[in-house]
Amino acid sequence: MKAHMITYGCQMNEYDTHLVQSQLVSFGADLVDSIDEADFVLVNTCAVRGKPVDKVRSLLGQLRKIKAQRPLVVGMMGCLAQLEEGQQMARKFEVDVLLGPGSLLDIGAALESNGRFWGLQFKDELHEHIPPSPTGRLQAHLTIMRGCDHHCTYCIVPTTRGPQVSRSPDDILRELDLQLAAGVQEVTLLGQNVNAYGVDGGARLAGYPSFADLLRMVGRSGVRRIKFTTSHPMNFTEDVAAAMAETPAVCDFVHLPVQSGSSRVLRRMAREYSRQEYLGHIAAIKKHLPNVVLATDIIVGFPGETEEDFQETLSLYDEVGFDSAYMFIYSPRPGTPSYKHFADLPRELKTERLQRLIVKQKEWSKLRNAGKVGTVQEVLLRGDAHSEGFLEGHTRGNHPTVVPRAVGADGAGMYPVLIGHSTPHMLYGQIVGADGQPLPEIPRLEPQAAALSSPLQMA
Ligand code: SAM
Ligand code: SF4
Repeated sequence: MKAHMITYGCQMNEYDTHLVQSQLVSFGADLVDSIDEADFVLVNTCAVRGKPVDKVRSLLGQLRKIKAQRPLVVGMMGCLAQLEEGQQMARKFEVDVLLGPGSLLDIGAALESNGRFWGLQFKDELHEHIPPSPTGRLQAHLTIMRGCDHHCTYCIVPTTRGPQVSRSPDDILRELDLQLAAGVQEVTLLGQNVNAYGVDGGARLAGYPSFADLLRMVGRSGVRRIKFTTSHPMNFTEDVAAAMAETPAVCDFVHLPVQSGSSRVLRRMAREYSRQEYLGHIAAIKKHLPNVVLATDIIVGFPGETEEDFQETLSLYDEVGFDSAYMFIYSPRPGTPSYKHFADLPRELKTERLQRLIVKQKEWSKLRNAGKVGTVQEVLLRGDAHSEGFLEGHTRGNHPTVVPRAVGADGAGMYPVLIGHSTPHMLYGQIVGADGQPLPEIPRLEPQAAALSSPLQMA
């Protein structure tokens, strides 16, 4: 069988795609790079906002057309598969295999079923499953928990992914060992609310460390860089900031979604913290980590958000001075309390506020990135950038960075980079040697020169 997977959504979905791909390979499938080559196409879906749902709908429409012309098995997995909305789509577009986020290990049974297979249960075996590490990757994701015990009024995740289940520290460390053996240098610990690790359903699990202690344990594994996402402010403790400060491998990078700067809006979102409490967490983080890089998520145009509320979001942005932000227009999701109870604001109003927020974000990102010019940053280069002759990667603070290929450092790896130039979204620099001086660049061929030296031109 030739299988092709398409992934929408967050890093947890990327992790799950890898998990299912490794299962497919173990059942004898070849993983192929395009729909055209495949006889099984599996779409990993996101249901958090309307946009990714629309994308899946349009893709399933295309796949149904292909299916009418040749044999093709179509599968859908992830958050949308768990919802009635997704199941209706599956019926309409003749999807054969449906796997909810808790049933991913049913992929084998689905393949054997030779027809329609729907797996929508939340199965415990998933939490103990350790997928093999991907080859040739310096970065890896590691899921430390699934699901979420919070009930933010706008969010569909608790419905799609179920209640929080923390993975055992032994399983996490075993998976990390495999990743290290495969050459991984940076691991990102994943969960909807990593700060609540080990406290499932409000009760601490016997033998499970706190998230701060898990960071310390992972820090002793020998991995060079540790990142984590996502932190919920409600469960963020100062001990996490202390653990970050005392564990050299943990990057000085915190993604702490605020969602809104207005306590009134936060209350309607059921976020369980106020503006002041959020700012208190930021102060504690900055106390322990003076050079911390801060990122956030913000939703604009939540039902009932007034201009005054929105101004509070803008002023909170200034007070914190975030390095970067993911900004979303509120998307009413069927099945959530805010969809049921609160009237949506006009689209134009939400779009206009988003534009103003983007201006604010760009100002701060420009300023923050400009502060890196002249410094040497440790950059994990992944490989080729879009422009020929350049490599791309990211710093410990998650800044995307581009460098020219250099003699002795022309591929993926961890390198010191002297930052020479910045934009709000990118750092540009040169790899430096042990003496702190830039390594000589590998000369780039001009297009004409390259064409002239090709055998065809010479003949
Ligand atoms: N668990 C994380 C937290 O609480 O911060 C976030 C997980 S959620 C999948 C990622 C982001 O999507 C949220 O932080 C929020 O900003 C955004 N989001 C979730 N539901 C949304 C909705 N209905 N409309 C717009 N944005 C939404
Ligand atoms: Fe959704 Fe809130 Fe849970 Fe995050 S904490 S996944 S926003 S319910």
